[in-house]
Amino acid sequence: MGRQEWAYCNECEDLVDFDIFEEIVTEQYKGEEVRFKFHVGRCRCCGNEVATDTAYNSRKSEAKIKAYKKKRGIIDIDEISEILMKYDIGKEALADIAGFGKVTIKRYYEGFLPAKEYSDILYKILNDETWFMDLVQRSRTKLKEVTYRKIVARYDRLARINESKIDQIANYIIIRMEEVTPLALEKLLSFCNGVNYAVNGERLIFDESQAWAHGPVYPYIYNKYKKYGYKPIGDGIYSSHGWLVSKLSEKERTVIDMVIRTFGLYSPKTLEKISHSQEPWREKRVGYKDNEAGREAIDEESVERFYIENDLCTEEKIMRYILNCIREITFHAPGTRTDCAFRENMIQE
Ligand SMILES: [Zn+2]
Repeated sequence: MGRQEWAYCNECEDLVDFDIFEEIVTEQYKGEEVRFKFHVGRCRCCGNEVATDTAYNSRKSEAKIKAYKKKRGIIDIDEISEILMKYDIGKEALADIAGFGKVTIKRYYEGFLPAKEYSDILYKILNDETWFMDLVQRSRTKLKEVTYRKIVARYDRLARINESKIDQIANYIIIRMEEVTPLALEKLLSFCNGVNYAVNGERLIFDESQAWAHGPVYPYIYNKYKKYGYKPIGDGIYSSHGWLVSKLSEKERTVIDMVIRTFGLYSPKTLEKISHSQEPWREKRVGYKDNEAGREAIDEESVERFYIENDLCTEEKIMRYILNCIREITFHAPGTRTDCAFRENMIQE
């Protein structure tokens, strides 16, 4: 990291060595007391606060304003950005739809604080898609035709995702991962479903999973995203509010995050190999050749048993499990050792 070695201490009037502590800072802002968490630099000689890097003071004032907004229930810039991404609109269009002056949203990005009543409207837009669409219809004459059509198209997609849990999980993974191929998505969905048994004791995905040659597959998701081939899927819609996560509980989102932070670190091919080592897939591939197409339904009870027996219920346990799988794959897969030797030769040359 770019941590500087010395900081200037006003008390010692010298460059000093310092430590960084996570502290709860209390400060005044606009006549109100706000408290926020911050990594505070402290002089090692006298304990006085020191700026640990050039961005220290601006970072601290941002944290303070963020805390103030949160305390007063005022929408944050990140949340306004979420509105723009969710509905696929620009700042001016949002201002028109919300009934604000044209430059209002732009001003917020320049640092102006939204008034409470404006902020409440924006929160409602973020959380309530139907209400948003009512506003759009009412302000239709103010919007360009192309903007209006884009919004309607986006609204239809949101409404469709609202009805399907597997779509919501897939969309959540696509957004969180930033880059995910159809092959990796299929594997991650199946790991999510399994880990949810180990963590929450219940099934996550109610669509049928099938034992295809390349691992477990949800045919509905496969058909939806196959056009991307080996490329990352590029049609995720970002929002952590409203319809996009309406069928997911907090507990379930925790499981999905857990899978993303563990299995999500590995390449699609590695994930495929891990899925090939799992009993619920293997038992449905008996009698099939390696690359032979198969459509047998995976047995959910077998999935539940596998994840509970392997105790895949924390990030640490999942990481250990993955590393074990990779070790097995590396030492037992035919051809792998030759591959390693080959690569070593390349490096020597
Ligand atoms: Zn000092």
